[in-house]
Amino acid sequence: MAPDYQRIPAIHRLLDLPSLQAAAADHGHALVMEACRAAVERLRSRLDAGEVSAAAVEAAVEALEEEILDALRIDSNAAYTSVINATGVLLHTNLGRAPLPQHFPPSLKSYLALEYNVTEGRRGQRLAPIADRIARVCSAASAVMVNNNAAALLLLLNAHASGREVVVSRGQLIEIGGSFRLPDVMAASGSILVEVGCTNRTHLKDYSAAIGDKTAAILVVHQSNFRIVGFTTEPSVTELAGLAHARGIPLFVDQGSGALHDLRRWGLPHEDTVSQLLEAGADVVCFSGDKLLGGPQAGLIVGRPEWVDPLGRHPLYRALRPDKTALVMMDEVLRAHHSGHLGEIPLYAMLEITVESLKGRAQRLGRRLRAAGVPVRGRPTRATLGGGTTPEETFPSYGLGIAGGQQLADRLRTGTLPLISRIEDDEVVLDLRTVPVDQDRDLAAALVEAYSGLHASQDAGA
Ligand SMILES: *Cc1c(COP(=O)(O)O)cnc(C)c1O
Repeated sequence: MAPDYQRIPAIHRLLDLPSLQAAAADHGHALVMEACRAAVERLRSRLDAGEVSAAAVEAAVEALEEEILDALRIDSNAAYTSVINATGVLLHTNLGRAPLPQHFPPSLKSYLALEYNVTEGRRGQRLAPIADRIARVCSAASAVMVNNNAAALLLLLNAHASGREVVVSRGQLIEIGGSFRLPDVMAASGSILVEVGCTNRTHLKDYSAAIGDKTAAILVVHQSNFRIVGFTTEPSVTELAGLAHARGIPLFVDQGSGALHDLRRWGLPHEDTVSQLLEAGADVVCFSGDKLLGGPQAGLIVGRPEWVDPLGRHPLYRALRPDKTALVMMDEVLRAHHSGHLGEIPLYAMLEITVESLKGRAQRLGRRLRAAGVPVRGRPTRATLGGGTTPEETFPSYGLGIAGGQQLADRLRTGTLPLISRIEDDEVVLDLRTVPVDQDRDLAAALVEAYSGLHASQDAGA
C-alpha cells in the first residue's frame, strides 16, 4: 500500500497554527518554516520506510506541532551552554579551562581605548599596555601576548628559527590534547627539529654535540601532562642557558602552565615559575593564559627584548593577536596576580577553599536533597588541577556521593542544566570544589530532576 501522504498537512497549514505564529514572532519566519519543512520531511521518510502504521499516522501528524516547537527550542539554545562542573578537575579543557572572573570590566561594555592614546588624542599602541602589565607581573624585560601558547611557539620559532635547527630533548616531544603536537607546530613554523638524547635521559653533552652552524636555539618544553619517572635525567635550565650562551644561541622555554606563584602554597608539587626560569637564564619563556594564570585563552611570551620585541612587529603577529575581550580580561586577571588579591581569580578561589567549608556545604546540600527524596551522602574526594598541569597529582576535597552509576551520570549530564560528574566504584561523585557556591541551588535541582526521572523510568519499566 502506498504511504498515506495526504494526511500530512501542508506547510502553510502548519504555519497558521497559533503556536507556530507565536514562534515565528520569537524566532523569525524563516526558522519556523525551516523547522516545519524538516519535521514534515522526517514524517515522509518514516512513512516511506513503513515505520508508521496506518493506525499511527493520525498520532504522528498530531505530534508534528510539538516536534517543531521542540526543534525551535533546541535551535534557540546557546551554542555553548553553561554547565555545572562537579568533576573536581579545576582546569577542565573540555569545559573551558579556567573560569573567568565574575566581574566583567566596564570597558568591555562600551567603546574602549584599544589603540588610542587618550592623552594625546591620536592613534595609540594596541599591544604595549598589556605587554607592560605582563612584563611587570613576570619580572621580565619584555612581553607579547597572542591567542594561545601554540601560537606563541609558532611565532617565536618562525621569527627566530625559520629554516634553521632547533634542538629539543627526546623526552620533551609532547602531544597535548591531540591537536597540539610539538613536532607539528615546529614544522609549521618552518624550523627544523633536531632531537637529542633518549626518552628518559638527555645529557648536557647531547645538546652540546647537536649544536652547529645551522642551530638557531635550544628549546626546553615542559612535560605538562605526563611524567617520566625512574632512571631519568635532564640538564637544568641554568646549565642549558650556560651552554646556549657559550655557543651564541638563545634558550627558549615552553613552560606551558604559566605558574606565577609557588604552588606549594596550595599543597601542590613545586613547578618552576616563569620568573624563576628567566632568572635561571632562559632568554624567552612562553606559556598559556588559561591554565595556572587563571585567565582567558592566550599565549604569553616573556623575556629579553632582543628576542621578544621583534615578535610584536612580525607579519604573523597580525594573524595571531588577541581580540579586545581577551586583552581586557587578561589585564583584569594580571592585576589580581600583581596585587596579590588572588581570591578574585576563580581558579585561586577554588584552590583556597578549605575542605572544612566544602564539608559544611555538602552537609547542607545533603539535608536538603534527602528531604527531597534523593539519598546522597557527604564524602571525601580528590580534586586535581587538570589542563595538562601537575599530572596524577590530586589534593583533598569534599563533595557528595550517590548510588546510580552511569545511568544517573547520563541523566545529570543531559538535564535542564547539564551537571558533569564522575563515577567511582559505581557511585556518582560530585566534587564541590569546582562548583561555585551560587550554583548549589542549581546542583540540587539537577540532582532532584535526574534522580526522580531515573526512578520514574525504572518504576515504569519494572
Ligand atoms: C598547554 C600547553 C601547550 C598548548 O597551549 P595552548 O595555550 O593550549 O595552545 C603547549 N605547550 C605546553 C608545554 C603546554 O603545557
